[in-house]
Amino acid sequence: MSYVGVKFKTKMIGKDLPSDPRLDRLKYWCNLFHEKGLAPPYEGGSYGNLSFRLKNNEDDFIITASQSGLNESNTNDRFVVVPRVDLGAGIVYAIGLRKPSSEAMVHYAIYNMRPDVQAVFHGHCDKISRDAEKLGIPVTSKEEPYGTIALVDKVLESLDNLYFLEMRNHGFLALGKSLDDAGNLALEFLKKC
Ligand SMILES: [Zn+2]
Repeated sequence: MSYVGVKFKTKMIGKDLPSDPRLDRLKYWCNLFHEKGLAPPYEGGSYGNLSFRLKNNEDDFIITASQSGLNESNTNDRFVVVPRVDLGAGIVYAIGLRKPSSEAMVHYAIYNMRPDVQAVFHGHCDKISRDAEKLGIPVTSKEEPYGTIALVDKVLESLDNLYFLEMRNHGFLALGKSLDDAGNLALEFLKKC
């Protein structure tokens, strides 16, 4: 049996809006990703999703909602708490008014594997994708559809102790020990293109 193409399901388990002092910084980076073309807009959303870990040594995180424009991220209803992900069963549990980004399980898998990572910023940038090899950015070995277990597997296979990598024919992942570290790393690579 092949798991390629299996999509995760979301279970909403509460409606409380997230609250955390770092949300202001997340909003700042959402807006900047939009402005710099790191997460281009589409009708009703943005190609990109940003998150940060809630507490040290736990895998809960706050992430941008599915189908929300990153430039409209000024209210907290555009963010969702993901307290738990069941990778085996393919379920993302979430608290908030909207569904979490369809790429939430990639974020979860990274937090789970890398205790040093406090923020995961994912964007789609043609320039970075085009120049990845030239800039020495590691690229996952094979393209996989977004929102699938297969994509999570490919990311974990390449992750090692990297802070920046490219998902083949898809987009980049910038990781950081803080939100600013993750954001600045993406800006650095954009400048080098
Ligand atoms: Zn993506």
